[in-house]
Amino acid sequence: MRQFVVLGTASQVPTRTRNHNGYLLLWDGQGLLFDPGEGTQRQMLLAGVSASQITRICLTHVHGDHCFGLPGVLSRMVLDGVQHPVHLHFPASGEEVVRALVSLASPGLDLRLLPHGGSGIVAPGLEVRPLNHRIETYGYRFVEPDGRTLLPDRLAAAGIVGSDIGRLQREGNLGAIRQEDVSVPRRGQRFAFVMDTAECEGAEELADGADLLVAESTFSDEDAGLARQYRHLTAGQAGALAAGGGVGTLLLAHFSARYEDVLPLVGQARARAAGTNVLAANDLDRVAFPARRRNVS
Ligand SMILES: [Zn+2]
Repeated sequence: MRQFVVLGTASQVPTRTRNHNGYLLLWDGQGLLFDPGEGTQRQMLLAGVSASQITRICLTHVHGDHCFGLPGVLSRMVLDGVQHPVHLHFPASGEEVVRALVSLASPGLDLRLLPHGGSGIVAPGLEVRPLNHRIETYGYRFVEPDGRTLLPDRLAAAGIVGSDIGRLQREGNLGAIRQEDVSVPRRGQRFAFVMDTAECEGAEELADGADLLVAESTFSDEDAGLARQYRHLTAGQAGALAAGGGVGTLLLAHFSARYEDVLPLVGQARARAAGTNVLAANDLDRVAFPARRRNVS
């Protein structure tokens, strides 16, 4: 199952309808929790996900609205008897804050602190790129390796059935039949998470070819001055980011409390992102990971 669970979508301060940040990517048995702000534990309950589903926690930066939910979530994992290791990724310069938050949680979890201080791969399939915010911030990208899709008609024509199909996949050939003869290339799916940044190269690299891009959209285009001042994206800039990367679906999140209705922001992003499916994230949304796209390399 691949699904993106929205736990909270408010920037800086929560509102009556939006909790502080929090996002859980469920991916084939892994659970990547991004930026747990205050109240994340309760939002998980409301969203119907459990703390034991979390295998990795990814912080973009250590501003409170992106990490103050950490002690509660970690303590809950201890309470629930989580036995598997939990990896916590964060910018190296935020280590003091992270250690303080972690020290508040109940002991007993196999928690592994994994600071990063530059671009690169931080875990299998998981990459980071620096963003441009007021403190050190990184966005994330989770990429499935490219593979191959077997074609049933060609398998049938070659007389390959039952357990031989698995053998062909494992071994690459079955007698004279090569896997390439009965399959086509399949591009791995790509997820990108871009929070708290002005427009920058790192954000563009993360967005490149993403099937699902979750991007902050703190400000409306009319408030571009504020976005510049606080180093955030406007909705239009988030749309342009998605268009530049040929993104399949753009999910806008991290809204300023000043916008009660975010539909105009969706419109601004759409205006700059023809060809991309643009949605606004609302608390407790469950977004199915978009289907594989054809004709994308
Ligand atoms: Zn923020």
